Amino acid sequence: MKKLFGRKKKEKLKNATHINMGGVYVLGVMYVIFMVVLIAVQANVRYTIRADRLTLLPREELAKLKTEQLERMGSSFQTIQNGQSEADGTASQTEQDTLQEQEIQPVTDEAATQTEQDIQQKQDVHKDTLLVIEEGDAGSEKAQKLYIPVFSQMKIDFDVCTAEAFEPEMIPEYDKIVLAITHYPLLADTIADLKVWVKQGGSLMIAYPPEVSGSYQTLYEILGIKDSGDTTLVEGLHFDKNFMIGGTAKDYYIIDAYDCSLGLSITDDCEVYIRSTDEYSVPLVWRRKAGEGTIVVDNFGILEKAYRGIHCAAYSLMGDYCIYPVINGAAFYIDDFPSPVPGGDGQYITRDYNMSISDFYSQVWWNDIYELAKKHNIYYTGLVIEDYSNQVSGEFVRNREVRRFQYFGNMLLRSGGEIGIHGYNHMPLVLENFDYKDQYDAYIQWPSVEDMRNALDEVLDFTHDLFKDEELLVYVPPSNVLSREGRELLNETSIRSVAAVYLSTDMAFEQEFEVSEDGMINCPRITSGCVIDEYMELAALSELNLHFVNTHFVHPDDVLDEDRGARLGWAKLYKNLCSYYDWLYKVSPKIRNMTGTELAAAVEHYDLVEVNRSFADDKLTLKLDNFNGENWMLFRVNNGEKLLRVRGGGFDEVADGLYLIRCLKDEVELEIYK
Ligand SMILES: [Zn+2]
Repeated sequence: MKKLFGRKKKEKLKNATHINMGGVYVLGVMYVIFMVVLIAVQANVRYTIRADRLTLLPREELAKLKTEQLERMGSSFQTIQNGQSEADGTASQTEQDTLQEQEIQPVTDEAATQTEQDIQQKQDVHKDTLLVIEEGDAGSEKAQKLYIPVFSQMKIDFDVCTAEAFEPEMIPEYDKIVLAITHYPLLADTIADLKVWVKQGGSLMIAYPPEVSGSYQTLYEILGIKDSGDTTLVEGLHFDKNFMIGGTAKDYYIIDAYDCSLGLSITDDCEVYIRSTDEYSVPLVWRRKAGEGTIVVDNFGILEKAYRGIHCAAYSLMGDYCIYPVINGAAFYIDDFPSPVPGGDGQYITRDYNMSISDFYSQVWWNDIYELAKKHNIYYTGLVIEDYSNQVSGEFVRNREVRRFQYFGNMLLRSGGEIGIHGYNHMPLVLENFDYKDQYDAYIQWPSVEDMRNALDEVLDFTHDLFKDEELLVYVPPSNVLSREGRELLNETSIRSVAAVYLSTDMAFEQEFEVSEDGMINCPRITSGCVIDEYMELAALSELNLHFVNTHFVHPDDVLDEDRGARLGWAKLYKNLCSYYDWLYKVSPKIRNMTGTELAAAVEHYDLVEVNRSFADDKLTLKLDNFNGENWMLFRVNNGEKLLRVRGGGFDEVADGLYLIRCLKDEVELEIYK
């Protein structure tokens, strides 16, 4: 590009001497402009800076709001133990402090009498949902780890109760009861009352396939089950109804499929939403009217984080309506970008392009990635690595070879993107107390927090020098590994958002979409790479429906790494990536494209808002606490009604009976047309 301009310029100047002085003057001016442009490219003057559409609250204010929320939400759901309703705390999970460690406090039999008194006292406090669990049962424990965070994140008003302590008197206290138990004989004393309650208008959900017992079979009449057999294999999901965002776009297959459902036949009056793709397909999610009430059966037994959205969607079929806050954002992070030329095996680049790794990135890879962004209006967030060194102590020397950084960095910024930090080098921020379990032979731990700080300071300063307008707010941990000490350190820098991973792998730093107590915003990445396998497809589908979010990690070095598909060649990898993007924007054209910081702001809005719902006269009124200018919700209507208008906001239908609601005021009214 520069060479070409240089040549043209010289030719024009040569010609100019033969024309006249006016022409020389004009060309002189052009020359000066030209040089300014060239210098500007080198010196990082940005021509267009896309203003962030969402901005972050100041760190201290955010930390304060989050702390206050956690104190308030301490009683967001309760379990009843020893005769008392005990606050169990919010299920909001600060990084890695997941519900696995959170004890679900049981309600004991002995406590039942006292419990009843408590309930009597709380007659006026009508709750939305009761989750009935079974202590010490592996299936129920998995279900709790899934449903409790899901309900908390949907900001549902719910209680948790053990099957042993579940008394008939408790039933009318709730609109919805979700049974997350394996052994239904535990409910021998309540099943008859549950059935009556459903027929009178209650809404009951079976949260996962239980053990078939005489007690469970007594529910078949209202569940619409004619006959049941053994557990059965589910190889994929087929959506009979277009009720989830992206559901009917294709069939979704399950990696490492296993027997996770009950083989059964159901009555014709069941509305099947999802069934298995297998030849003799099994109904996986269905809804049925039973008297005045409704039942939902979730017969899909994979209760992992990647499938949360499926179970959230099943739950949302309970009752007449369901509304919950969502993030509404799609962000794409680019690993090690800009960085020095990555090392690695360039044989597939040589095979397909016959060029150096460096030329491949500037002439092929970036063009493709850039075009893809333009096609879908994506704003990438690139994560800087200053130097591929092994250094973890001493003075961190400034990398003076900056042309590549400037070239890619400025292109990224000019296309509306953002620059964040990955590290001085690719050594994860862990100390010598961290065990790599022999998985990363090349990685060296840092001797001290001070050394980590020095390296971080260097890369922040280096990046700031190159891109003066960038605030450097986003951090992605190298190899997704981050220690508590490293995480604490980040809060002492300009970093406001940590984007690690949503789905756990061995030693990866797992996160939820949330604000931490110290004001750091967690924006985990859900999917990655150019080989989008079935697991990632389902995770992406799931998160569109739970949080209306998509976060993807682009690895420039996929083409250098056989494990990430290098052998396929860039053309094929790129095609995969294109079809993933095409799928995303086909199924969710309304999703907001964002940089990492904007997504952090969207997570902030989503996480802080508290939702009070009230329904009367075909109107659903939402009162939003901690409202900060804008919030988004997914709203499901279950009985064929239509959403007529939204006062204080707007809406779009994103699937059949599912609306994306934009709330622009702290009080929003949804008018429903029957
Ligand atoms: Zn990296």
